[in-house]
Amino acid sequence: MRRVSPKIVERVMRTLGHSIEGMELPAIEKISSDQQADPFRILIGTLLSARTQDATTHAASTRLFRAACTPTAMAALTVDEIEQLIYPVGFYRNKAKFVKATCAALDTRFGGTVPRTLAEMVTLPGVGRKTANLVMIRAFHSNKNICVDTHVHRIANRMGWVTTREPHQTELALYRATEERWWPYLNRYLVTWGQNVCRPVYPKCGDCVLAPGCPRLGVEKVGRRSRV
Ligand code: SF4
Repeated sequence: MRRVSPKIVERVMRTLGHSIEGMELPAIEKISSDQQADPFRILIGTLLSARTQDATTHAASTRLFRAACTPTAMAALTVDEIEQLIYPVGFYRNKAKFVKATCAALDTRFGGTVPRTLAEMVTLPGVGRKTANLVMIRAFHSNKNICVDTHVHRIANRMGWVTTREPHQTELALYRATEERWWPYLNRYLVTWGQNVCRPVYPKCGDCVLAPGCPRLGVEKVGRRSRV
């Protein structure tokens, strides 16, 4: 994978930095802000957030942390109790099992704290690279990680920054294609843009500030322009 011209990346990132002002933040960004950068709360909140609306994730996290606010206390809850506390988040039955198992692992293997490396974090039950990278960025202020979800994966391919099939490949390609200074911001900027403009289906290319330099790779149909 070639390196994208640093000037192109800088123009896109600075443009997005201005353009997303006032737009609603992605769920995982809100969780990070809400949880005051506590790694344990960010980890559990992010686990709960997959395929779940923001308000539902927020309410479920609040109930769960009110019942148990440490890995030891949460591991002591039964799976049934966790299910009841987090319902109706998506896949709440699986997530309840992962929450309990992850808390038990934090307790027994990591002294009741969230490990500070990606390699250790992805050994926790239910924790993939997306969640682990986000915790590294938001909780540990890492500048060495990129959190790639479907929005980042899709937009990076549409803009021609990467040519990949899976988010994991995109993450690795973005480390090579972009300068390190942008890594902690890629998720927030591209996810916000993906939810509002460069949507999965019918992206609003006619309204997009990135349109003049975007090759729109793989885009077949675009959405209607918004009325001004
Ligand atoms: S021009 Fe279209 S494809 Fe390119 S970033 Fe904007 S919305 Fe996405």
